[in-house]
Amino acid sequence: MFKNKKIYKIFIMSIFALILLFAAGCSNAAKEQTTETGSKFLMDTLVQMKVTGKNAEKVLNLSFDRIEELENLMSKTLKKSEIYKINHSSEPVEISDDTIKVLNKSIHYAELTSGRFDPSIGPLVELWGIGTEDARVPTEEEIAEAKKLVNYKNIEIDNNKVFLKQKDMQLDLGAIAKGYAADEVKRIAEENNIKSAFVNLGGNVLVIGHKADGSKWRIGIQDPRKNRGNIMAVIKAVDKTIVTSGNYERYFEKNGNIYHHIIDPATGYPADSGLLSVSIISESSFDADALSTSVFILGLEKGMEFIKDQKNVEVLFITEDLKVYLSPGLKGKVEITGEEFELIEGELSGN
Ligand code: AMP
Ligand code: MG
Repeated sequence: MFKNKKIYKIFIMSIFALILLFAAGCSNAAKEQTTETGSKFLMDTLVQMKVTGKNAEKVLNLSFDRIEELENLMSKTLKKSEIYKINHSSEPVEISDDTIKVLNKSIHYAELTSGRFDPSIGPLVELWGIGTEDARVPTEEEIAEAKKLVNYKNIEIDNNKVFLKQKDMQLDLGAIAKGYAADEVKRIAEENNIKSAFVNLGGNVLVIGHKADGSKWRIGIQDPRKNRGNIMAVIKAVDKTIVTSGNYERYFEKNGNIYHHIIDPATGYPADSGLLSVSIISESSFDADALSTSVFILGLEKGMEFIKDQKNVEVLFITEDLKVYLSPGLKGKVEITGEEFELIEGELSGN
Protein backbone atom coordinates (compact mmCIF):
# COMPACT_ATOMS: atom_id res chain seq x y z
CA MET A 1 0.00 0.00 0.00
CA PHE A 2 2.84 2.40 0.86
CA LYS A 3 5.65 2.85 -1.59
CA ASN A 4 8.25 2.97 1.09
CA LYS A 5 8.68 2.80 4.82
CA LYS A 6 9.24 6.56 5.12
CA ILE A 7 5.80 7.45 3.78
CA TYR A 8 4.27 4.77 6.00
CA LYS A 9 6.01 6.32 9.02
CA ILE A 10 4.74 9.80 8.13
CA PHE A 11 1.24 8.40 7.74
CA ILE A 12 1.30 6.73 11.17
CA MET A 13 2.73 9.84 12.79
CA SER A 14 0.05 12.03 11.22
CA ILE A 15 -2.63 9.71 12.59
CA PHE A 16 -1.09 10.01 16.07
CA ALA A 17 -0.91 13.77 15.75
CA LEU A 18 -4.55 13.87 14.72
CA ILE A 19 -5.60 11.72 17.66
CA LEU A 20 -3.62 13.95 20.00
CA LEU A 21 -5.18 17.08 18.53
CA PHE A 22 -8.64 15.57 18.86
CA ALA A 23 -8.00 14.59 22.48
CA ALA A 24 -6.69 18.06 23.29
CA GLY A 25 -9.77 19.56 21.68
CA CYS A 26 -12.00 17.32 23.78
CA SER A 27 -10.26 18.20 27.01
CA ASN A 28 -10.47 21.90 26.11
CA ALA A 29 -14.16 21.55 25.44
CA ALA A 30 -14.52 19.74 28.76
CA LYS A 31 -12.60 22.52 30.49
CA GLU A 32 -14.90 25.12 28.95
CA GLN A 33 -17.81 23.38 30.53
CA THR A 34 -16.29 23.41 34.01
CA THR A 35 -18.74 24.54 36.60
CA GLU A 36 -17.40 25.72 39.92
CA THR A 37 -19.50 26.46 42.98
CA GLY A 38 -18.43 28.01 46.23
CA SER A 39 -19.66 29.89 49.25
CA LYS A 40 -18.02 32.10 51.82
CA PHE A 41 -19.21 34.23 54.72
CA LEU A 42 -18.45 37.80 53.69
CA MET A 43 -20.10 41.20 54.17
CA ASP A 44 -22.09 39.77 57.05
CA THR A 45 -23.83 37.24 54.86
CA LEU A 46 -23.34 33.94 53.07
CA VAL A 47 -22.08 34.63 49.57
CA GLN A 48 -22.88 31.81 47.15
CA MET A 49 -21.48 31.53 43.64
CA LYS A 50 -21.76 29.26 40.65
CA VAL A 51 -19.61 29.92 37.59
CA THR A 52 -19.40 27.99 34.33
CA GLY A 53 -16.60 28.43 31.82
CA LYS A 54 -12.93 27.95 31.17
CA ASN A 55 -11.88 30.38 33.90
CA ALA A 56 -14.51 29.33 36.41
CA GLU A 57 -12.17 28.61 39.29
CA LYS A 58 -10.14 31.75 38.73
CA VAL A 59 -13.29 33.89 38.62
CA LEU A 60 -14.60 32.30 41.78
CA ASN A 61 -11.38 33.07 43.66
CA LEU A 62 -11.01 36.59 42.25
CA SER A 63 -14.63 37.35 43.14
CA PHE A 64 -14.37 36.20 46.75
CA ASP A 65 -11.12 38.17 47.11
CA ARG A 66 -12.73 41.28 45.67
CA ILE A 67 -15.79 41.03 47.93
CA GLU A 68 -13.51 40.65 50.92
CA GLU A 69 -11.52 43.67 49.79
CA LEU A 70 -14.71 45.74 49.55
CA GLU A 71 -15.84 44.53 52.97
CA ASN A 72 -12.49 45.65 54.38
CA LEU A 73 -13.08 49.11 52.91
CA MET A 74 -16.74 49.61 53.71
CA SER A 75 -17.57 47.67 56.85
CA LYS A 76 -18.90 49.83 59.66
CA THR A 77 -17.48 47.58 62.36
CA LEU A 78 -14.01 46.58 61.11
CA LYS A 79 -11.57 49.07 62.62
CA LYS A 80 -9.31 49.01 59.58
CA SER A 81 -12.12 50.00 57.19
CA GLU A 82 -12.38 53.40 55.54
CA ILE A 83 -15.93 53.83 56.81
CA TYR A 84 -14.78 53.16 60.38
CA LYS A 85 -12.02 55.73 59.95
CA ILE A 86 -14.42 58.37 58.61
CA ASN A 87 -16.85 57.65 61.45
CA HIS A 88 -14.18 58.10 64.07
CA SER A 89 -12.21 61.03 62.70
CA SER A 90 -12.42 64.72 63.50
CA GLU A 91 -10.85 65.66 60.19
CA PRO A 92 -11.27 64.72 56.50
CA VAL A 93 -10.17 61.19 55.64
CA GLU A 94 -8.76 60.26 52.24
CA ILE A 95 -10.43 57.14 50.88
CA SER A 96 -10.41 54.83 47.84
CA ASP A 97 -12.31 55.33 44.60
CA ASP A 98 -14.49 52.31 45.50
CA THR A 99 -15.80 53.83 48.71
CA ILE A 100 -16.22 57.23 47.04
CA LYS A 101 -18.32 55.65 44.29
CA VAL A 102 -20.58 53.90 46.80
CA LEU A 103 -20.89 57.04 48.89
CA ASN A 104 -21.74 59.19 45.87
CA LYS A 105 -24.39 56.72 44.68
CA SER A 106 -25.85 56.67 48.21
CA ILE A 107 -26.08 60.44 48.24
CA HIS A 108 -27.75 60.34 44.82
CA TYR A 109 -30.50 58.09 46.21
CA ALA A 110 -30.72 60.16 49.39
CA GLU A 111 -31.47 63.17 47.18
CA LEU A 112 -33.99 61.24 45.05
CA THR A 113 -35.87 59.99 48.13
CA SER A 114 -35.68 63.27 50.08
CA GLY A 115 -33.53 61.56 52.69
CA ARG A 116 -35.63 58.44 53.32
CA PHE A 117 -32.59 56.53 52.07
CA ASP A 118 -29.67 57.99 53.98
CA PRO A 119 -26.10 56.64 54.21
CA SER A 120 -25.65 58.56 57.47
CA ILE A 121 -28.27 56.31 59.12
CA GLY A 122 -25.46 54.89 61.36
CA PRO A 123 -26.49 56.39 64.73
CA LEU A 124 -30.03 55.00 64.43
CA VAL A 125 -28.81 51.58 63.27
CA GLU A 126 -26.41 51.49 66.20
CA LEU A 127 -29.06 52.59 68.69
CA TRP A 128 -31.51 49.85 67.70
CA GLY A 129 -28.71 47.29 67.43
CA ILE A 130 -30.88 45.05 65.27
CA GLY A 131 -29.08 41.86 64.37
CA THR A 132 -26.72 42.22 67.34
CA GLU A 133 -26.90 40.96 70.93
CA ASP A 134 -27.69 44.51 72.06
CA ALA A 135 -30.94 44.83 70.11
CA ARG A 136 -33.59 46.70 72.10
CA VAL A 137 -36.37 49.25 71.76
CA PRO A 138 -34.76 52.63 72.56
CA THR A 139 -36.53 55.40 74.44
CA GLU A 140 -38.22 58.27 72.59
CA GLU A 141 -35.47 60.61 73.78
CA GLU A 142 -32.72 58.37 72.51
CA ILE A 143 -34.42 58.13 69.13
CA ALA A 144 -34.87 61.91 68.94
CA GLU A 145 -31.17 62.42 69.72
CA ALA A 146 -29.95 59.87 67.17
CA LYS A 147 -32.32 61.24 64.51
CA LYS A 148 -30.67 64.64 64.75
CA LEU A 149 -27.39 63.09 63.61
CA VAL A 150 -28.83 61.57 60.44
CA ASN A 151 -28.48 63.96 57.54
CA TYR A 152 -26.67 63.12 54.33
CA LYS A 153 -26.30 66.84 53.60
CA ASN A 154 -23.65 66.96 56.31
CA ILE A 155 -21.39 64.55 54.45
CA GLU A 156 -18.66 66.61 52.86
CA ILE A 157 -16.84 65.10 49.90
CA ASP A 158 -13.87 66.90 48.39
CA ASN A 159 -12.19 64.79 45.71
CA ASN A 160 -11.40 61.62 47.68
CA LYS A 161 -11.58 63.23 51.10
CA VAL A 162 -14.64 62.69 53.25
CA PHE A 163 -15.63 64.56 56.36
CA LEU A 164 -18.71 64.28 58.55
CA LYS A 165 -19.63 67.81 59.50
CA GLN A 166 -21.61 66.97 62.62
CA LYS A 167 -19.91 65.33 65.60
CA ASP A 168 -21.03 61.71 66.26
CA MET A 169 -22.45 61.28 62.76
CA GLN A 170 -21.90 57.79 61.33
CA LEU A 171 -21.99 56.35 57.85
CA ASP A 172 -23.54 52.93 57.20
CA LEU A 173 -23.36 51.54 53.67
CA GLY A 174 -25.17 48.30 54.55
CA ALA A 175 -28.01 49.09 52.16
CA ILE A 176 -25.86 49.39 49.05
CA ALA A 177 -22.37 47.86 49.42
CA LYS A 178 -23.51 44.33 48.52
CA GLY A 179 -25.02 45.63 45.30
CA TYR A 180 -21.73 47.24 44.35
CA ALA A 181 -19.93 43.98 45.18
CA ALA A 182 -22.34 41.97 42.99
CA ASP A 183 -21.66 44.28 40.04
CA GLU A 184 -17.93 43.85 40.64
CA VAL A 185 -18.37 40.07 40.43
CA LYS A 186 -20.12 40.62 37.11
CA ARG A 187 -17.24 42.74 35.84
CA ILE A 188 -14.67 40.12 36.89
CA ALA A 189 -16.69 37.34 35.23
CA GLU A 190 -17.08 39.29 31.99
CA GLU A 191 -13.41 40.20 31.88
CA ASN A 192 -12.67 36.48 32.06
CA ASN A 193 -15.10 35.49 29.29
CA ILE A 194 -17.62 33.85 31.58
CA LYS A 195 -20.97 33.49 29.84
CA SER A 196 -22.86 31.82 32.67
CA ALA A 197 -22.73 32.62 36.37
CA PHE A 198 -24.83 33.15 39.46
CA VAL A 199 -24.00 35.06 42.63
CA ASN A 200 -26.12 35.53 45.72
CA LEU A 201 -25.01 37.91 48.44
CA GLY A 202 -27.69 37.27 51.03
CA GLY A 203 -30.65 38.31 48.92
CA ASN A 204 -28.71 40.26 46.28
CA VAL A 205 -28.90 37.86 43.36
CA LEU A 206 -27.18 38.47 40.04
CA VAL A 207 -27.15 36.16 37.02
CA ILE A 208 -24.92 36.33 33.98
CA GLY A 209 -26.21 34.88 30.73
CA HIS A 210 -28.21 31.65 30.75
CA LYS A 211 -27.73 28.57 32.90
CA ALA A 212 -25.01 26.20 31.68
CA ASP A 213 -27.68 24.02 30.01
CA GLY A 214 -28.91 27.00 27.97
CA SER A 215 -32.17 27.51 29.88
CA LYS A 216 -33.08 30.71 31.72
CA TRP A 217 -32.19 31.09 35.38
CA ARG A 218 -35.15 30.60 37.72
CA ILE A 219 -34.78 32.98 40.62
CA GLY A 220 -36.84 32.38 43.71
CA ILE A 221 -38.38 35.19 45.74
CA GLN A 222 -38.09 34.41 49.41
CA ASP A 223 -41.29 33.78 51.36
CA PRO A 224 -40.94 36.65 53.86
CA ARG A 225 -42.59 34.66 56.64
CA LYS A 226 -40.29 31.67 56.40
CA ASN A 227 -36.65 30.71 56.73
CA ARG A 228 -34.15 31.38 54.00
CA GLY A 229 -34.60 29.08 51.04
CA ASN A 230 -38.42 28.95 51.20
CA ILE A 231 -39.70 30.68 48.11
CA MET A 232 -43.13 32.05 47.17
CA ALA A 233 -42.53 33.06 43.55
CA VAL A 234 -40.19 32.39 40.66
CA ILE A 235 -38.92 34.83 38.05
CA LYS A 236 -37.07 33.64 34.96
CA ALA A 237 -34.05 35.77 34.19
CA VAL A 238 -31.10 36.24 31.87
CA ASP A 239 -28.44 38.89 32.62
CA LYS A 240 -30.40 40.39 35.48
CA THR A 241 -30.16 41.20 39.13
CA ILE A 242 -32.90 40.66 41.69
CA VAL A 243 -32.36 42.41 44.98
CA THR A 244 -34.72 42.01 47.90
CA SER A 245 -35.13 44.08 51.04
CA GLY A 246 -37.33 42.53 53.67
CA ASN A 247 -38.34 42.92 57.28
CA TYR A 248 -37.40 39.27 57.89
CA GLU A 249 -33.69 39.63 57.20
CA ARG A 250 -32.72 41.08 60.56
CA TYR A 251 -35.23 41.70 63.29
CA PHE A 252 -36.30 41.02 66.84
CA GLU A 253 -39.72 40.63 68.37
CA LYS A 254 -40.90 42.40 71.49
CA ASN A 255 -44.45 42.41 72.88
CA GLY A 256 -45.80 41.07 69.60
CA ASN A 257 -44.10 43.76 67.52
CA ILE A 258 -41.46 43.09 64.91
CA TYR A 259 -38.57 45.55 64.89
CA HIS A 260 -36.53 45.14 61.74
CA HIS A 261 -33.33 46.60 60.30
CA ILE A 262 -34.61 49.10 57.74
CA ILE A 263 -34.99 52.36 59.61
CA ASP A 264 -37.08 55.28 58.42
CA PRO A 265 -35.05 58.42 59.14
CA ALA A 266 -38.30 60.39 59.21
CA THR A 267 -39.52 58.55 62.34
CA GLY A 268 -36.36 56.94 63.71
CA TYR A 269 -38.26 53.64 63.88
CA PRO A 270 -38.15 50.59 61.60
CA ALA A 271 -40.02 51.51 58.42
CA ASP A 272 -43.70 50.76 58.88
CA SER A 273 -44.93 50.88 55.32
CA GLY A 274 -47.20 47.84 55.35
CA LEU A 275 -44.70 45.78 53.38
CA LEU A 276 -43.00 42.48 54.08
CA SER A 277 -40.55 42.78 51.22
CA VAL A 278 -39.60 44.59 48.05
CA SER A 279 -37.69 42.96 45.20
CA ILE A 280 -36.09 45.08 42.49
CA ILE A 281 -35.36 43.51 39.12
CA SER A 282 -32.93 45.36 36.88
CA GLU A 283 -29.50 45.25 35.34
CA SER A 284 -27.38 47.06 37.91
CA SER A 285 -27.18 45.45 41.32
CA PHE A 286 -25.59 48.62 42.71
CA ASP A 287 -28.70 50.66 41.88
CA ALA A 288 -31.11 47.82 42.66
CA ASP A 289 -29.71 47.51 46.19
CA ALA A 290 -30.19 51.20 46.94
CA LEU A 291 -33.62 51.04 45.32
CA SER A 292 -34.87 48.02 47.26
CA THR A 293 -34.13 49.70 50.57
CA SER A 294 -35.53 53.05 49.37
CA VAL A 295 -38.73 51.57 48.02
CA PHE A 296 -39.26 49.45 51.14
CA ILE A 297 -39.29 52.67 53.17
CA LEU A 298 -41.44 54.59 50.67
CA GLY A 299 -44.15 51.89 50.70
CA LEU A 300 -46.40 50.54 47.95
CA GLU A 301 -47.94 53.65 46.38
CA LYS A 302 -45.00 56.04 46.63
CA GLY A 303 -42.56 53.24 45.83
CA MET A 304 -44.44 52.29 42.65
CA GLU A 305 -44.49 55.94 41.56
CA PHE A 306 -40.80 56.25 42.28
CA ILE A 307 -39.93 53.17 40.21
CA LYS A 308 -41.83 54.55 37.20
CA ASP A 309 -39.13 57.21 36.85
CA GLN A 310 -36.27 54.69 36.91
CA LYS A 311 -35.17 53.22 33.57
CA ASN A 312 -35.25 49.42 33.13
CA VAL A 313 -36.26 48.85 36.73
CA GLU A 314 -39.12 46.54 37.78
CA VAL A 315 -40.45 45.84 41.24
CA LEU A 316 -42.35 43.16 43.14
CA PHE A 317 -44.00 44.15 46.43
CA ILE A 318 -45.32 41.78 49.09
CA THR A 319 -47.67 43.49 51.50
CA GLU A 320 -48.41 42.45 55.08
CA ASP A 321 -51.71 40.91 53.93
CA LEU A 322 -49.76 38.67 51.50
CA LYS A 323 -50.80 40.50 48.35
CA VAL A 324 -48.27 40.69 45.54
CA TYR A 325 -48.07 43.82 43.39
CA LEU A 326 -45.95 44.07 40.25
CA SER A 327 -44.73 46.96 38.14
CA PRO A 328 -46.16 46.84 34.59
CA GLY A 329 -43.01 45.34 33.03
CA LEU A 330 -43.23 42.25 35.26
CA LYS A 331 -46.83 41.37 34.42
CA GLY A 332 -47.03 37.78 33.17
CA LYS A 333 -43.41 37.10 34.11
CA VAL A 334 -43.81 36.01 37.71
CA GLU A 335 -44.93 32.54 38.71
CA ILE A 336 -46.49 32.62 42.18
CA THR A 337 -45.78 29.33 43.94
CA GLY A 338 -46.89 30.19 47.49
CA GLU A 339 -50.57 29.30 47.86
CA GLU A 340 -51.44 31.95 50.40
CA PHE A 341 -50.16 34.78 48.23
CA GLU A 342 -52.56 36.66 45.99
CA LEU A 343 -51.31 38.28 42.82
CA ILE A 344 -53.02 41.62 42.31
CA GLU A 345 -53.50 42.29 38.62
CA GLY A 346 -54.00 45.65 36.96
CA GLU A 347 -52.78 49.12 37.74
CA LEU A 348 -52.25 50.06 41.36
CA SER A 349 -54.68 52.97 41.24
CA GLY A 350 -57.46 50.53 40.24
CA ASN A 351 -57.16 48.59 43.49
P1 AMP B 1 -31.02 46.24 52.68
O1 AMP B 1 -31.03 44.86 53.25
O2 AMP B 1 -30.24 46.37 51.42
O3 AMP B 1 -32.38 46.81 52.54
O4 AMP B 1 -30.21 47.16 53.69
C1 AMP B 1 -30.54 47.24 55.05
C2 AMP B 1 -29.37 47.86 55.78
O5 AMP B 1 -29.20 49.21 55.35
C3 AMP B 1 -29.55 47.94 57.27
O6 AMP B 1 -29.09 46.78 57.91
C4 AMP B 1 -28.73 49.18 57.62
O7 AMP B 1 -27.36 48.84 57.69
C5 AMP B 1 -28.92 50.08 56.42
N1 AMP B 1 -30.08 50.98 56.52
C6 AMP B 1 -31.15 50.91 57.36
N2 AMP B 1 -32.01 51.91 57.15
C7 AMP B 1 -31.48 52.66 56.13
C8 AMP B 1 -31.89 53.86 55.46
N3 AMP B 1 -33.02 54.50 55.77
N4 AMP B 1 -31.09 54.34 54.48
C9 AMP B 1 -29.93 53.73 54.15
N5 AMP B 1 -29.50 52.62 54.77
C10 AMP B 1 -30.25 52.07 55.73
MG1 MG C 1 -30.50 47.53 49.74
